[in-house]
Amino acid sequence: MDSQEFRDCAKTVIDMLADYYDNIRDRQVVPSVEPGYLIKTAPEDAPEEPEKWENVLKDFNQTVMPGVTHWHSPQFHGYFPHGSSYGNIIGSLLCDGLAVMGFTWRASPACTELEVVTMNWLGKLLGLPQEFLNCSPGPGGGVIQGSASEATLVGLLAAKEKTFRRLLKKDPSIDKDLIKTKFVAYSSDQCNSSVEKAGALGSMKMRLLPSDSNCQLRGETLKKAFAEDKAKGLIPCYVVANLGTTGTCAFDPLYELGPVCKEENVWLHVDAAYAGAASICPEYRYIIKGIEYVDSFDVNVHKWLLVSFDCSAMWVKDSYDLINAFDIQRIYLDDVKSETRVSEAEVTVPDYRHWQMPLGRRFRALKLWTVLKMHGAQGLRKHIRNHITLAEHFLKLVHADQRFVVEPKPTLGLVCFRLKNGDSYTKQLLENLLATKQIFMVACTYRNRYLIRFVICSRLTTEKDVEHSWRIITNEADLLIGPTH
Ligand code: PLP
Repeated sequence: MDSQEFRDCAKTVIDMLADYYDNIRDRQVVPSVEPGYLIKTAPEDAPEEPEKWENVLKDFNQTVMPGVTHWHSPQFHGYFPHGSSYGNIIGSLLCDGLAVMGFTWRASPACTELEVVTMNWLGKLLGLPQEFLNCSPGPGGGVIQGSASEATLVGLLAAKEKTFRRLLKKDPSIDKDLIKTKFVAYSSDQCNSSVEKAGALGSMKMRLLPSDSNCQLRGETLKKAFAEDKAKGLIPCYVVANLGTTGTCAFDPLYELGPVCKEENVWLHVDAAYAGAASICPEYRYIIKGIEYVDSFDVNVHKWLLVSFDCSAMWVKDSYDLINAFDIQRIYLDDVKSETRVSEAEVTVPDYRHWQMPLGRRFRALKLWTVLKMHGAQGLRKHIRNHITLAEHFLKLVHADQRFVVEPKPTLGLVCFRLKNGDSYTKQLLENLLATKQIFMVACTYRNRYLIRFVICSRLTTEKDVEHSWRIITNEADLLIGPTH
C-alpha cells in the first residue's frame, strides 16, 4: 500500500465508520453466528500476495462484521459502558499513525509529557487531592495503564515491595523469600474477577471478605480480618476497595477502610473502574469521600469517559513506591535525568517505564487528549448526567410494572431488576431476551437472588431507545408469565 492508496482506503474506512454509527439502530445487537463460524471458513494460511485494499474491506464486511456484537447499539446494556466517540477514533488514529514508543522521555518526549498533562487535567476534574497530581510539589502522579486489572496488579506488587522494605528496615535479618509468603491482600466478595486474579498473578493470598447487606465492605470487617491474620503470624499488606462493584455498583466506604489501613501501614488501592468517572460531576463527588487515605486510585477512562480500551487512569500518592518496585536499569535505556524535579521549570518528568509492567508503551495519552479537548469537561459531564437520567427513566418504567422488583436501590447508570415469580423465571427471561439477539444484558446476584442488570452503555442512547429496550423486555415477559393486568 502506498500513501495514495492509504489516503483512499482510510477515507473509505472513516465513511464506513460514520455510516456504522449513524445506522447502528438498524443492526441486531448480538450476531447470529455459531462458535467457529469464522475459524471454519477462513483460509488456513495468510495470503502470500498482497491483496487490494478494496478486497480487504469487502472481506471485512462479508466475514468479520457478521460476527461482531454491537457494543455501541442503544440496546446493548451489558457489563458497563465501553468508551467510544469520534474524538477517540481521531486520537487512536494519531496514536497508531505515529506509532511511537514512550518508555523513556527521550524515546518520545511528547508521549511522556502529554500523559503528565492529561493525567493532571483528569485528576483535577475528578477532584482528586493535590498529592495525587504530578503538578503538586510531592512525589504523586498519574499514569495510563492498559486496564484496571493491570492497575490492581501494579498496586499489589508495589505494596509487596514497600511492605518488605519497611520490615527489612526494622529487622535486616529477615528472610526475604519467607517473609513475602506471609503477606495478605484483601477485598470484598463483590470485587471484580481481576482483583482476585491480581492475587494469583502477584503470588499473594487474597482474602475476599464478606460484604454487608448493601454489598459494601465495612471497616469493622476489615479490622477483624487483619487481627485474625496477625494472630496467625501473617502480615496484612494490600487492600482493594471497590467504588462501583461490577455486580450492583456498590461503594465500599473509603472513610472506614482508610483509617484501618493507615493504622496497620497497609496499602489501600481503589478500583473505581466504572463509577469513578462520575466524580467529574460535583454532585457525585461524594463517592470518593475518604480519598485522602488512599495510596492508589484507578478509573477506566475506557469505560465511561468516551475513550476506547485501553486507557485506565491510575494515580499514586508516592511514585517512588512504583519506582522502587519496578526500576530495572539497562544501558540502552539511559535517559535524561528524569524522575527528578527540574527545579527552575518546576516540573517532573517521569520515567513511565518504572510505573507499569511492560517496557513498551503506546501514545495512549493522545486519545485522552483529543477526547478532553473535543468534548471539554462540560461535554463529559453532560454524557455522564445523561446516562444517569436515562437509567432513572428506565427505573420509572420498571416500577410501573407490577411483575418486576427493582433491587438494590439503583446507582448511577445501572438498574438491577427481577421478576416477582422467582429466580428461575428471571433466569429464563434473560435467556429468552438474549435469544432474541435484539438486546444484550448480563446477570448478577444480590442477597442470593438472581437479577438482570440493565446498564445505559451507548453514548447514542435516547429516552426513545430506553423505551424500545423496555418494550423488548416486557414482550418477552408477556410470553413467559403473561401480560400485566
Ligand atoms: N473493576 C471493575 C469494577 C470492573 O467492572 C471491571 C470491568 O468491567 C474491571 C475492574 C476490569 O477492568 P479491565 O478490563 O480494564 O481490567
